[in-house]
Amino acid sequence: MALRDVIGQAGVVEALKSAVLNRKAASAYLFHGPSGAGKFFTALNFVKALNCRRPADFPGVEEKGPAGGKDAADACDHCPACARIEAGSHPDVVIIRPEKGVIKIEEIRKLEESLSFRPYEGGYKAAIVDEAHLMNVRASNAFLKCLEEPPPESVIVLVSSSPERLPETVRSRCLALRFKPLSASQMESLLEDRVKDPEKRRALIGLSMGRPGLAIESGEDALRKRREFIKSLMGMLEGSRNPSWSDKEEIEEFMDGLELFLRDALVLNSTGREDLLLGAAPAPGVPGWPEKLKSLGRSAKKEVIIDCYHGVAGIRKSLVYNPNKSILWNYTAGLLSRLENGG
Ligand SMILES: [Zn+2]
Repeated sequence: MALRDVIGQAGVVEALKSAVLNRKAASAYLFHGPSGAGKFFTALNFVKALNCRRPADFPGVEEKGPAGGKDAADACDHCPACARIEAGSHPDVVIIRPEKGVIKIEEIRKLEESLSFRPYEGGYKAAIVDEAHLMNVRASNAFLKCLEEPPPESVIVLVSSSPERLPETVRSRCLALRFKPLSASQMESLLEDRVKDPEKRRALIGLSMGRPGLAIESGEDALRKRREFIKSLMGMLEGSRNPSWSDKEEIEEFMDGLELFLRDALVLNSTGREDLLLGAAPAPGVPGWPEKLKSLGRSAKKEVIIDCYHGVAGIRKSLVYNPNKSILWNYTAGLLSRLENGG
């Protein structure tokens, strides 16, 4: 895979390819946007493009694919450097992922150490921090030091679906690139070859809400999670007092779904166009959906929808402190009740 395989993020890919071509990568990036939109995939392929040895430098490596190997701004995807980055064994590339929902200071120390050496292979020293907002306080303090004095020829890519949870001091030192959910037609062309059954494809497009990662990697799982979200949301809107979440991960997933629900409500409110909705596929076993989305989207006041959206961002921030589930449930329900009561 390479940057040319990233779907629907043309602006981001163009900026990254230009950085590769001109050897002018920023020392730190923040890739943010909904989970499953391709942020990590893009980060990995950006790092590959930066460190690719290219067939021109590596005689004997076959050129494959549409632009494979010929595009100086993209990875060839066949040289030893590309292969090792893909396999996670390149000496100049560190990948950090949360463990049990947290990134600890030890991981950031590893990153610091790795970046302090010059690149072994003449490319870039690179680090990708997945779900970077899960750094604990000590880790993000240590991390700040890496950002303040970036070693030459090094690139750090922070990947985050909740960038508002990163300290401002970290965010302000990164070049932020936003990943957007894909449109329904982009999703359709992406899934056309992969999912043959048109009914299933339609459901996946609706339920993954423009997030190709969800649709491709977790097909059935995405459908199930989406159904659970809609069930919880309907329960909340109908006045249920019992949180349906069992853990923090489920709360995060609920807030993901809620953001896209509000996005759809706002789109419908402003344009009246149902064809632009991302999450309006029927949910088997949940009566009243998507009618509820459509009626709320049409009847709520625009300012109230926007207020709710900001409210969800606030809730996400508060998740750092492990809030009480019942309180959070009732707070969120109170927020959403304004959609129906007109403010
Ligand atoms: Zn390569």
